Amino acid sequence: MNTTRSEELFEEAKKYIPGGVNSPVRAFRSIGSTPRFIRSGKGSHMTDEDGNDYVDFIGSWGPLILGHDYHDIREAVMEAVTKGLSFGATTEIEGRVARLICEMVPSIEMVRMVNSGTEAVMSAIRAARGFTRRDKIIKFNGCYHGHSDGMLVAAGSGVMTAGQPGSAGVPAGCTADTLTADYNNLDDVRKRFEDNPDQIAAVIVEPVGANMGVVLPEPGFLEGLREICTEHGALLIFDEVITGFRLQKDGAQGRFGITPDLTTFGKIIGAGMPVGAYGGRREIMELISPLGPVYQAGTLSGNPVAMNAGYTQLTLMNEHPEWYTELNAKADRFFEAIRAMLQKYGYDYQVNHIGSLGSLFFTGETVRDYGSAKSSDTKEFARYSNYMLNHGIYVAPSQFEAMFLSAAHTQEDLGRYLSAAEDFFRR
Ligand SMILES: *Cc1c(COP(=O)(O)O)cnc(C)c1O
Repeated sequence: MNTTRSEELFEEAKKYIPGGVNSPVRAFRSIGSTPRFIRSGKGSHMTDEDGNDYVDFIGSWGPLILGHDYHDIREAVMEAVTKGLSFGATTEIEGRVARLICEMVPSIEMVRMVNSGTEAVMSAIRAARGFTRRDKIIKFNGCYHGHSDGMLVAAGSGVMTAGQPGSAGVPAGCTADTLTADYNNLDDVRKRFEDNPDQIAAVIVEPVGANMGVVLPEPGFLEGLREICTEHGALLIFDEVITGFRLQKDGAQGRFGITPDLTTFGKIIGAGMPVGAYGGRREIMELISPLGPVYQAGTLSGNPVAMNAGYTQLTLMNEHPEWYTELNAKADRFFEAIRAMLQKYGYDYQVNHIGSLGSLFFTGETVRDYGSAKSSDTKEFARYSNYMLNHGIYVAPSQFEAMFLSAAHTQEDLGRYLSAAEDFFRR
């Protein structure tokens, strides 16, 4: 595969952008490779600047549940663009998006739009602290909640691959109120509450861990968090930036039947445009400015172009519940086929999956938390990831990122993955 043009562009970009990228995972450092510069995408495929075609298994890290360049979404964006890009004044579409989100996700009584998942989490935590008048937050090791200061503690994927415990530039004071616990470990959570009586504002969790690779909540874990929070007067925040509108229309909370107090969204909610949102119980959301004392704002929040993209994608998903059924069934068959293939060649590697999210961990250990995820052989993962890329299969360049399937993946696409993977594992 010829990658000359990508290499040239990368050299040029590195002169002016730190590491040549605007988000670290794109630099392909953890697999010792250089990034492919993407020129365009269509359906389940992407084309790079050298003209190489890939079946895309990251879908922009989640937003593209209908694939690239979906007709109705493109039309909606084009139409919005002709009316103006931004007004800094309120528009009709914002109310329609908010109403649709409240209809699709019953725990959301009010919602505020922001510009990224990071912002959604940062704001939800502020709301939780304002509501409870407490400062401490519990987060789980290996869960990622964006790059706001207080959340950069044992934060999964990008941070994890870089092998750093957190980040430089974060004052100790900013993380002093962030307590950590192990995923799937309720005893850990109980202990934090015992050690910090009446001080914990909220527990924030990815209801399905998807930033240390995919790690499923064990039966009882999310239920336990709900009970513990209620018992101690703390809020439960589900970070559904990945799982929201992906597992089903009401996300992981619908799938597992748990009602969080606050939820954060991102990724799918903008269909590829920069959007995030946070919402939940009315009495909490009514504390947000201008109604209440919790300040939060955004010049471009609720941007009409982005809102039209998101509204169109969410409306389609809401009107077609069978698309979720089909996508999830297709994904189940696909991840089971990977598992069977690994068995056939005598590998004990772990395949964790739920709906259209999955991970292939290069370890024989059951992966149920950050520690077990880290037992993966990342060197072997790098060989696999490079092999797949060089054979036209765009998988995450990191062991600790999920694979994302979309409604656009065809049997032929999935067959292409399986045959390339089989070639890799056979040798
Ligand atoms: C991606 C992600 C975020 C951060 O969203 P950005 O839009 O990248 O700021 C937060 N939480 C989870 C669970 C995510 O996967």
